[in-house]
Amino acid sequence: MSEAEPAGPAATAAPAAPARDLEARLVARVRSDGPMSVAAFMAEALYDPRAGYYATKDPIGAGGDYVTAPEISQMFGELCGLWALQCWLDMGRPAPFRLIELGPGRGTLMRDALRAAAIRADFIAALSVSLVEVSPALQSAQAAALANAPVQAGWARRLEDVPAGPAVILANEFLDCLPVRQFVRLEDGWRERMVGLDPAAPERLAYVFDRLPAPDADIALIPETLRDAAEGAIVEVRPAAGAVLDALAARLIADPGAALFVDYGPAAPETGDTVQALKEHNKLDPLGAPGERDITARVDFASFAQEARARGLAAHGPVAQGGWLASLGLEHRAAALMKARPEKRASIARQVFRLCDPSQMGALFKALSVTAPDMSAPPGFPAPPEPSPASQADGAGRP
Ligand code: SAH
Repeated sequence: MSEAEPAGPAATAAPAAPARDLEARLVARVRSDGPMSVAAFMAEALYDPRAGYYATKDPIGAGGDYVTAPEISQMFGELCGLWALQCWLDMGRPAPFRLIELGPGRGTLMRDALRAAAIRADFIAALSVSLVEVSPALQSAQAAALANAPVQAGWARRLEDVPAGPAVILANEFLDCLPVRQFVRLEDGWRERMVGLDPAAPERLAYVFDRLPAPDADIALIPETLRDAAEGAIVEVRPAAGAVLDALAARLIADPGAALFVDYGPAAPETGDTVQALKEHNKLDPLGAPGERDITARVDFASFAQEARARGLAAHGPVAQGGWLASLGLEHRAAALMKARPEKRASIARQVFRLCDPSQMGALFKALSVTAPDMSAPPGFPAPPEPSPASQADGAGRP
């Protein structure tokens, strides 16, 4: 879908395709070409145009396969909208200005963000909205959610296709669905973990090891702190996140802007197989019924931030979601909502708990901001430390 068609998605959702068909196609492919990487499997299961998960499903919400922060509470999208507004003010109110969302799901976050940001008519007057979405089913849901929004939205399939200019980019639970490759530490070094056939049931997919050791170019993808991991350790790398950062760098080096990534994952690289499949809120085998189950893996925030910096961008955070929302004024917004709707008091308190408590989404979920190199820290992120006199003296002594 191009930006030139702002009225809404023209594509209609494909009819639900039988998952067995995709599974049979993948089995046939492994039989003829040999095992595929976990990333290639994830890409097929999620994005196959006929039977892929995102091609055919509206997966989000209580009746779907999982629930996300904007679906838990309107306050999440509202605070993202105010965050975008404050970034725009800090940038000196550029006009025209673009609000972009990567993987907007049902459009709930953008709807709530625009409603909150509409407190500044000059922001809304400057604004275009671009939604980057691959799923025809979700594009339709987004168009419906934004039917009465104060700004008309346009759609693109990739960030690269969104017109240039100053922008804020929002992405909630977007990175986690980008495919990962897995490497396993064996006695003789690193091997890629692949998807092949189950020797006991050759019509079924199963994890296997690559025949050959991983080449140096692949080992270089493994975070340095994990390269000497113990035998048996699994490490995940996400090449598609690098492609998103390439597109982001092209925008943010040319024009001012800030991106916000909220997702689940550790602050520092960790080993482990984190690929998980969800259906109707239950965790299932990721290799079973491809196309029918949502598949995600944890986001390695430290590596993502490092890759952003390697492209000349600034990275702020990650900070825990709970603290980030609190610093943006979640408690005040909750109190205002409770005052306006006293009968909803208990449910609003429950929403705050689910978003912020460390036992819920407050600690595992994190926010990271990637900005143009010369921008100050965006709202909710600590300012980078001032160089201390000692370290300055230190630095001055280096060649
Ligand atoms: N942000 C929403 C939805 C999260 S689910 C929320 O918080 O509720 C992931 C979203 O990303 C879905 O909208 C999915 O269709 C979209 N998506 C997944 N991979 C994508 C890709 N490669 N490019 C663009 N959108 C993608």
